[in-house]
Amino acid sequence: MQKENIKINRPPVVVVMGHVDHGKSTLLDYIRKTNVVDGEVGGITQRISAYEVIHKDEKGKDKKITFLDTPGHEAFSKMRERGAKIADIAILVVSAEDGVKPQTIEAWKSITDMKLPVIVAINKIDKPGANIEKTKIELAEKEIYLENFGGQTPCVEISAKTGTGIDQLLSLILIITDMEGWQYTENEPATGFVIEANLDSKRGLQASLVIKNGTLANGMTVVVGGSICSTRIIENFKGVPAKEATACSPVRIFGFDKMPQVGAEFLSFQNKKEALEFAQNFDSGKKTDKNLPAEDTGKKIIPVLLKADVAGSLEALEKEIANIKNDGAEFRIISRGVGPVSESDIKNIADGENAIVVGFNVKADRSAVETAEKRGITISFFDIIYKATEWLQVEMENRRPRVETVETTGRVKIIRAFSRTKERQILGGKVTEGSIYLNATIKIMRRDFEIGRGKVVNLEKGKVKTSVVEEGNEFGMMIESKIEIAPGDVIESFNLVQK
Ligand code: GDP
Repeated sequence: MQKENIKINRPPVVVVMGHVDHGKSTLLDYIRKTNVVDGEVGGITQRISAYEVIHKDEKGKDKKITFLDTPGHEAFSKMRERGAKIADIAILVVSAEDGVKPQTIEAWKSITDMKLPVIVAINKIDKPGANIEKTKIELAEKEIYLENFGGQTPCVEISAKTGTGIDQLLSLILIITDMEGWQYTENEPATGFVIEANLDSKRGLQASLVIKNGTLANGMTVVVGGSICSTRIIENFKGVPAKEATACSPVRIFGFDKMPQVGAEFLSFQNKKEALEFAQNFDSGKKTDKNLPAEDTGKKIIPVLLKADVAGSLEALEKEIANIKNDGAEFRIISRGVGPVSESDIKNIADGENAIVVGFNVKADRSAVETAEKRGITISFFDIIYKATEWLQVEMENRRPRVETVETTGRVKIIRAFSRTKERQILGGKVTEGSIYLNATIKIMRRDFEIGRGKVVNLEKGKVKTSVVEEGNEFGMMIESKIEIAPGDVIESFNLVQK
């Protein structure tokens, strides 16, 4: 049966952050042990560093929550570097025994930078040395204002060791999820993020993914940047084969041709050919095809460097850019990538390349901005695709080579040649077409061939000086030219028009 293309609510992806030794791993272990629904756990050889738990919401309904359980949260920090969003909610763990520490502040800063909803979990409250009040005051001193403590940030007091408060923490996650209403479309090829990648001696290059949208089914092809993997087996986070998986399930697949990047976004395709094309385009884009000769299309090549928040927007923008065309120029993507515009992006632009740098839903590193300024490169930012494409259209129009065309404004048949001194001669003629203007540049035509050029330096109609003579009128004029004009010649006044 065809699944409908409707959006449905999805579970949240939660990341646990905080100072070392404040109890992040203990909390994740506790939640895994007590809330993961037991399945065929026996088959697990190596765990995926993310797991799903089930917790009852306020109405008593079973709801899923995905936890990132990455060692050192490598994927998360990589994602952060790229400015992309793998997690939906952050838990900031603060030990009630040790209070606020440097990494507590650092973690808070990342969380707020990424605009993630956050829950502060004050941990180790079972310990004799725990001082909850003091911890809250220390947090307030660092401008982390908790609910019922002068602020809005929800807070739970927990013990990751005994389990106190953990139910409350999970309920709070579900309340936030309900309020945020994150959704996904089931009937779309899955997209999401790579949370780990490694080489397995038996299975080859494998990666764990967290799906954020759509469905990944057996037989689909997954692409991460330039690497590609046909999914023959999808394993769920317990290592159990599954026919398909949806948001926000962690899965593991294997058989990549190249090691995929941790933290990168993955896309999936029903059609392997499409997947291959995408991966190949990605590779050729990375290599930067700026050395390709412009002559291959005869058009002016406008180089574009593209950075976006996620691979999805990158792909969408590329499609749009491919559709922007005109007769004189075309865009060529010299580099693309997910994440902020970096200094090396700017450095890789060759001198005089005059590339367009577009950041979509991303910022530029300070060093990138400085280098760009020094080199006179402008970085343009957008957060709406059509705004970006509109702007690119204008840019293409501005940059395409101008074709100079000659627009004839008037035609005069020479009837008489009066006098000639050096380069000036006085002539009588009749305007046969258009008008002739004072100071106009003219072509001198003899039997349809241009024999030279000149300028109208004086115009007289009925012996009265004038600035224009219209069609049908006879008149006198002085022309400045090196060519001697004779009766029967035709002079054409013209404008050079840039088109
Ligand atoms: P991480 O570095 O933040 O992952 O911290 P760990 O989870 O490794 O915890 C550091 C130490 O604190 C370990 O010895 C844990 O057993 C202990 N610990 C963590 N949470 C609690 C807690 O709630 N109560 C007590 N008593 N000990 C805890």
